[in-house]
Amino acid sequence: MEVEKVLDAKMDHVKSEKVISAVKIGSDIRYYLSGFMRKQGYVEVPPVIISPLTDPLNHPVFDPVIDYYGEKYSLTKSMIFHKQIMVQSFGSIFTFSPNIRMEEAERSSTGRHLSEFTQLDVEKRGASRDEIMSMVEEMITGLFDYIKHEDTELLSRLGRDLHIPGKPFERIKYLDAERQYGKNFESILSKKKTEPFWIIDIPLHQREFYDRESDIDSEILVDMDLVYPEGFGEAISGGEREYKLEKIKERIHKKGQTEDQFRWFIEFAKRGLEPSAGFGIGIERLTRYVCGFKRIEDTHPFPKVPGEFSL
Ligand code: AMP
Ligand code: MG
Repeated sequence: MEVEKVLDAKMDHVKSEKVISAVKIGSDIRYYLSGFMRKQGYVEVPPVIISPLTDPLNHPVFDPVIDYYGEKYSLTKSMIFHKQIMVQSFGSIFTFSPNIRMEEAERSSTGRHLSEFTQLDVEKRGASRDEIMSMVEEMITGLFDYIKHEDTELLSRLGRDLHIPGKPFERIKYLDAERQYGKNFESILSKKKTEPFWIIDIPLHQREFYDRESDIDSEILVDMDLVYPEGFGEAISGGEREYKLEKIKERIHKKGQTEDQFRWFIEFAKRGLEPSAGFGIGIERLTRYVCGFKRIEDTHPFPKVPGEFSL
């Protein structure tokens, strides 16, 4: 009986008008983003699904590891290292990367966490943070304009008035925001603002080891988050990357991690990495924002909601 109820709910979800609309809009979002990146001269590279090398993340998740012929493979949490290696040969890359992060059950209350999601993951050799931020602003405004025209009727049926933000987006330093609004600044500002905004210069201990330390203040990183307005929260994380071998090792140690965990990446760094910068934007979160949904699971026919049974 319990199983019957669960299956009925799953069927209702797959067939709901909300989900059907969001899948069409999500497909148009991918179509636009892919065209945008190509026009900017980026090459689409294939995703990596399992690897001994993946993002350590700055928060705890359950970690499914596959033992295969004596090597331990993780499901990709993000392609950060593969991106940094691939830009060495391709220059400018993008990929729609499936990420598995088995988030803890409490995260389902945010309305913006799934355990399986897709990132448009972008990296450019030799780019600065500023260059990447300007490109993102072009991408977001262009996308919203496209969707407003392409999906006018669907948006109106969903009751969504999608606002096209002005450029450049506001830039707020992490420590200034924290001083003014306290630890919870991101959610307070997200609710207060009516246009997306940047949080820049994130303190070292708040991020993984791979974002580059500032030349002026080694406690601050040359990185950024883009936050949606209207209370939708984080959209993007990105930044310039550490690329010098000694610096990479130093940052791994500062995080209390071991060189062994990242030995494959270190091997590439020994052979020389050039500087790069990039970002990742969650497609389901972007679709949720465009549709104006309270919960991210309405963007996906088979959402993996943290802590819940999912098909
Ligand atoms: P991160 O590197 O952790 O900042 O992730 C990059 C982007 O992926 C974020 O800015 C989000 O848009 C998206 N993202 C991260 N975690 C999740 C999740 N659990 N569910 C859905 N989207 C996510
Ligand atoms: Mg982030």
